[in-house]
Amino acid sequence: ASPLDKDQMQGLRGVREFLKVRTSYDVLPLSFRLVVLDIDLLIKKSLNILIQNGIVSAPLWDSRNSTFAGLLTSTDYINVIQYYCQFPHDLNQVDQFRLSSLRDIERAIGVLPLETVSVHPMRPLYEACRRMLKTRARRIPLVDIDGETGRETVVSVITQYRILKFIAVNNEQHTMLLKKPVRDLGLGTYKNLATTTMNSSVLDVIHLMVKYNISAVPVVDQDYRLLNVFEAVDVIPCIRGGAYDELSSTVGEALSRRAEDFGGIYTCGEDDRLDSIFDTIRKSRVHRLIVIDDDCRLRGIISLSDILKHVLLFGEEDDTIRGGSGSLR
Ligand code: ADP
Repeated sequence: ASPLDKDQMQGLRGVREFLKVRTSYDVLPLSFRLVVLDIDLLIKKSLNILIQNGIVSAPLWDSRNSTFAGLLTSTDYINVIQYYCQFPHDLNQVDQFRLSSLRDIERAIGVLPLETVSVHPMRPLYEACRRMLKTRARRIPLVDIDGETGRETVVSVITQYRILKFIAVNNEQHTMLLKKPVRDLGLGTYKNLATTTMNSSVLDVIHLMVKYNISAVPVVDQDYRLLNVFEAVDVIPCIRGGAYDELSSTVGEALSRRAEDFGGIYTCGEDDRLDSIFDTIRKSRVHRLIVIDDDCRLRGIISLSDILKHVLLFGEEDDTIRGGSGSLR
């Protein structure tokens, strides 16, 4: 192996050791706020609460049985939209749906319920990461048992983003060894990319995200130049207040509804190295990197799951799911 390969492996091993001696609890900030929603809440109202709090997901609570009832994410809203498309005359009913109906909606449109995996906050972070990759979950609730009542409590939720940020901030001595360029690592997806245009309808993009099971679709012009990225979370403001007819509006219109504090999109080139990607993660709120060439033409997409997969699994002998692009799919 070249010195570059050796360094790369040493850096990855360093990060893996780090993940084994830290817990999910370590990732949490000293003080944080957790919005938990009761499953008796109307779905319509839940949208407003997410928007008002500037969040895109929340744990659900079943107060009748005092149990944790899963995670609410943008996928659930996408399911409601699919339901509405399949049963358009049911708009009144859609309006009256509560969060407790989400499972019925999944059944009605024929999607498999997402497996809700949770981890104990004091288990090694490495375990939470492996579980995320295995189930393709983008976020995992930390569930503990209350010592006094013996009941489940949701401590917080950790996301791929938070974990990669935590790695980036605490492992500079390891990530600086990751000098191999994205091209050599085969990091990300470069074939059969799902893309859209500014004039496509929001509904078309939603169908693309469902079909490919992805959380973002690059928006390109007629020369395949990158203009923007439509993300699954961009669906939320589109259906605020139960205005499902707005889904026929264009991608361009929908993107103009983004919150003021939208963090922007991040790009990189195929010659960029993994260490510089970790620098970007350390400094910014990155949810994926869009790979472009010198003319700003779309080349590929590197998701946080692609990065996490590489960090955990690359070079691991015993593993069938290697670090390469999209091999899980
Ligand atoms: P994450 O799991 O981090 O939210 P995605 O669900 O968007 O990321 O990505 C899942 C897989 O699909 C990744 O391997 C990623 O490279 C690939 N992918 C992401 N977006 C697209 C797209 N628009 N077209 C094709 N493949 C994509």
